[in-house]
Amino acid sequence: MKKDENQLLIRSCLTELCTAIGARPTGSGENRLAQQYIDRQFRQMGLQVENQPFTCIHWMAGSAALNVDNEKIPAKASPYSLPVHFSGRFERAETISELQGRDLTDKMLVLAGALAREPVMPKNFRFWNPEHHQQIIRTLESLSPKAIITFTDEVATPVFEDGDFDIPSVVVPVNYQSRFHQNSNHTIELSFEARRIPSTGANVIARLNPTAKKKVIVCAHFDTKPGTPGALDNASGITTLLLTARLLSEADLNVCAEFVAFNGEDYFSTPGQVAYLEKYTDTFGRVMLAINCDGVGYKHGKTGISPMSCSREIEILVEKHIKNYRSLTLADPWYQGDHMLFTGAGIPTLAITSQKIFDLLDTVIHSEKDTIDLIDHSRIAETALFINSMIRQIEKVLKR
Ligand SMILES: [Zn+2]
Repeated sequence: MKKDENQLLIRSCLTELCTAIGARPTGSGENRLAQQYIDRQFRQMGLQVENQPFTCIHWMAGSAALNVDNEKIPAKASPYSLPVHFSGRFERAETISELQGRDLTDKMLVLAGALAREPVMPKNFRFWNPEHHQQIIRTLESLSPKAIITFTDEVATPVFEDGDFDIPSVVVPVNYQSRFHQNSNHTIELSFEARRIPSTGANVIARLNPTAKKKVIVCAHFDTKPGTPGALDNASGITTLLLTARLLSEADLNVCAEFVAFNGEDYFSTPGQVAYLEKYTDTFGRVMLAINCDGVGYKHGKTGISPMSCSREIEILVEKHIKNYRSLTLADPWYQGDHMLFTGAGIPTLAITSQKIFDLLDTVIHSEKDTIDLIDHSRIAETALFINSMIRQIEKVLKR
């Protein structure tokens, strides 16, 4: 394929996902448009396509009104929260033991200190769910306050983002914490509308040589958090995936190449990933290599390739091939993202992301600032070319 055709695909895919469609949270109409776009692209390459459906929630909320002793305080509903209309007293707690034995049934609860320091994993999250997070959820559910107030830095991840947790909550900027000192005389009013609308979503899975015994997987997620164009996270990965699919579909390949556009990496219960595992775990013995692209092609800094669960033979191949691509470099492993589905099962995996992305996590990623001008198109092309050549090499190694 010609170089300018690569460039055209890169430009049109990024523009379609980030500008024409925009934020595409799992369960939304925009998410469905992105799914249909990816499906169309795969079909145009002559690939066999499967849309793998699952159920989820489409969440909508109005703005929150919060007053303490008649002072207006900025607040936002936690993602997936149920609505609340409350007026009354609050209590504050910083540890689980402080909560024991309290009667909060007609009060609001303000969580501070250790209890509000980090996001609490969604109660039904499958892949990583520490006991002390589950204990926080259990304790709160048994006390059932009318609502919960948590604090956050401007763009930090909210403490609760959980469509299975039924106590309404809001996030308040951390510099307002002093308004919520324990004092039973404070009057608090909190009100917002919200709806959890039953919806569906789907992974889009395309295959080349579907019946071949051995397979390689290339994947990227296409959903976003609400309110972000999701350019680096992860239109960039989907663009790399589509370009790789087109390069490989024009090659003479004997193994099965499976291209998975995952839906739900940024949704609280990762339903697409769960659906994929439920259906395909028993085919994992056929997988020679899985490659995940998430946050690829940032214009500053290089794109990092992290081999995980790889044999020395694959590591050597990566080290040798990476030298042909100026924007690529070897990188340390990282442990969040769709590659963990495969790494966790012992499958040789390459996790690909921009090295500087870790500096953007608190400021750009998941915000309205994650726009297409952050992406260098030629770096996306190089990553796709690298994946293409790696897969062809892996096939050769297998033939020996
Ligand atoms: Zn991502």
